[in-house]
Amino acid sequence: MNIIRKVSDLKIEIAAAKERGSVGFVPTMGALHNGHLSLVERARKENDCVVVSLFVNPTQFNDKSDLSSYPRTEDKDIAMLQSAECDILFMPSVEEVYPQADNRKFNFGTLESVMEGAQRPGHFNGVAQVVSKLFDFATPTRAYFGEKDFQQLAIIRKMSSDLKLDIEIIGCEIFRDDRGLALSSRNMLLSDEQLEVAPIIYRTMIEASKVAAWSPDLEHTKEWVKEQIECIQGFKIDYFEVVDANTLQPIALLEDATERRACIAVKVGNIRLIDNITF
Ligand code: AMP
Repeated sequence: MNIIRKVSDLKIEIAAAKERGSVGFVPTMGALHNGHLSLVERARKENDCVVVSLFVNPTQFNDKSDLSSYPRTEDKDIAMLQSAECDILFMPSVEEVYPQADNRKFNFGTLESVMEGAQRPGHFNGVAQVVSKLFDFATPTRAYFGEKDFQQLAIIRKMSSDLKLDIEIIGCEIFRDDRGLALSSRNMLLSDEQLEVAPIIYRTMIEASKVAAWSPDLEHTKEWVKEQIECIQGFKIDYFEVVDANTLQPIALLEDATERRACIAVKVGNIRLIDNITF
């Protein structure tokens, strides 16, 4: 695996790789787990060259303490990517990605006015800043993103289409542990007790789909979910929404959309976890 820190070096390697075939790209913020690796495996199957980036992007953190506490496990990440047969690991410094402040403002309309976009002002603008730069550096054939960040995936698709980028955006299923907990780098910040209880988030969403089937006015389901989660010490709901899976706009009645997604964000102590299911 070739570890590259400079954009100029990355461009040289990518140009050579493209002579040989396709390039699959997996952007990450590191602290890798098997969820990340499932994206790398898929990229490995579908491309001649696999590029992973590891960059904790400061512009997408609206909460600076979240940025400073974000887990960093570089040596372990490198070993995991080597085993996953990644070809190129791009690990730039902040100065390399942002030689000067990025003042670009993206507009994703109603896609960003809900859920993560509403709770974390500026978050998706920062995501778009970094992903558009990484796309520009790596010029991949395909780029892989997890449905774990369902709204982010929609934002990236919109950005790619608005910028008319010639990159195939591929959404990958959520990777869960055997108790249903969606793997996340932030899980490693949870205490053993919190980790033990955290699968309740997924289980509650699955049960909520049954509640909604009996009572299609989703307000009732939302209240039920809130009760289930918030009766646990230290668990607080940021939002639980059932949305149209294409527009991401919350719906009031089950019948208001044919393709639905239930999305949740829960504060567990200071740690914020997100998850979603087809509903
Ligand atoms: P992150 O390092 O958290 O920015 O995540 C990098 C990529 O991995 C994003 O596209 C995430 O959606 C994806 N990802 C993170 N966790 C999972 C998971 N449990 N299953 C599938 N994809 C994931």
